[in-house]
Amino acid sequence: MTAGLGDRRLSQITTMRVGGPGEDFVFAQDVDTIIETVRAADDAGTPLLVVGGGSNLVVADDGFAGTVLQVGTRGITVETDDLCGGVIVHVQAGEPWDDFVAQACEQEWSGVEALSGIPGSTGATPVQNVGAYGQEVSQTIWQVKVYDRVKKQIKTLFNADCQFAYRHSLLKATIGGEFGPSPRYIVLSVAFQLRPTSMSQPVAYAALAHGLGVELGERVPLQAAREAVLAQRAQRGMVLDPDDHDTWSCGSFFTNPIISSEQMAEVRSKATALLGDDGPKPPEFPQADGSIKTSAAWLIDKAGYGKGYGAPAAATLSTKHPLAITNRGEAGSEDVVALAREIRAGVFDAFGVELVNEPVFVGLELA
Ligand SMILES: Cc1cc2nc3c(=O)[nH]c(=O)nc-3n(C[C@H](O)[C@H](O)[C@H](O)COP(=O)(O)OP(=O)(O)OC[C@H]3O[C@@H](n4cnc5c(N)ncnc54)[C@H](O)[C@@H]3O)c2cc1C
Repeated sequence: MTAGLGDRRLSQITTMRVGGPGEDFVFAQDVDTIIETVRAADDAGTPLLVVGGGSNLVVADDGFAGTVLQVGTRGITVETDDLCGGVIVHVQAGEPWDDFVAQACEQEWSGVEALSGIPGSTGATPVQNVGAYGQEVSQTIWQVKVYDRVKKQIKTLFNADCQFAYRHSLLKATIGGEFGPSPRYIVLSVAFQLRPTSMSQPVAYAALAHGLGVELGERVPLQAAREAVLAQRAQRGMVLDPDDHDTWSCGSFFTNPIISSEQMAEVRSKATALLGDDGPKPPEFPQADGSIKTSAAWLIDKAGYGKGYGAPAAATLSTKHPLAITNRGEAGSEDVVALAREIRAGVFDAFGVELVNEPVFVGLELA
């Protein structure tokens, strides 16, 4: 079924609440409509923007000169639920992610509880390998059913095919260039393999373990894990709330930089020069390949861009977290991007690290 959304602006369906009109809007409530719309746009050479919950998009005020396809398919189907094979559950792309997580916790399916409260659709979760509080969807995705825009056919991508990495995947790698702001592979449904248990997976994030009063690596009841994650996310403005401008955002605006050990040494010495011998040190998380992940929020904050920095009537950093750029009500896309550019340049000047945006830009460039 197709329902035209009329004369809509993309600011109405994005959580950053910026973005001008689309040329043509389609709201797809079944798989055939998704495929027909994608195929028609591609065959006609019309640019295509696929939208789920609009929570990872920064769209230009000029809008999008092409077809905007919002995926609204719903449904959660259990294939197996037994102690031997675990739980295999197929989730339609348009199913709101947190509704699925809530159901998983209720049904005692373990493996996605730390991803509670993340906005958006289930179909978008493989795109940037959504992650939080020590969990990523790549740990539980079994397979992803997609429509391949090149082969023009439905295809199954198994977990290994998806090339998941930190906030990255094969799908994300195909965004931009000939495919525009959406991937070559349009997600139709995602199959997860979860564990049938009332206990969470080992708690893998220090602040969460602290909040739960347990040691890292311990398990807690699923509902307790979910509630603790939701509480911590709310404190950081990371749960959508229409009355709270700190949540008019895309969540984290920049990914955490993964840099070489030589570059990390440079960051350390610049931090010492800036903050003194006894000052705070940049967080370091060694990776398996010898590189080091550091914290974008730390670099932003220490480069002088604290919580709330920016133009109070337009775009500022969240007053709860320095990693989220937020719309205070009147911001246009250029306000958001101007602040992002300023912060990116400031962090580069202070630490020599080039921040990379996490959300997908539509009709805009950061550089
Ligand atoms: C307050 C807040 C907190 C957040 N916290 C987190 C967090 O903790 N961890 C995290 O990883 N992210 C977080 N995010 C970012 C965002 O919620 C996720 O990236 C989410 O998965 C985006 O889903 P969406 O449906 O809104 O995608 P959209 O914003 O609609 O789209 C994002 C991209 O995915 C593509 N896409 C959407 N649906 C499909 C589909 N069916 N098939 C193919 N491509 C598709 C779009 O074309 C676009 O390129 C947060 C955002 C906000 C606003």
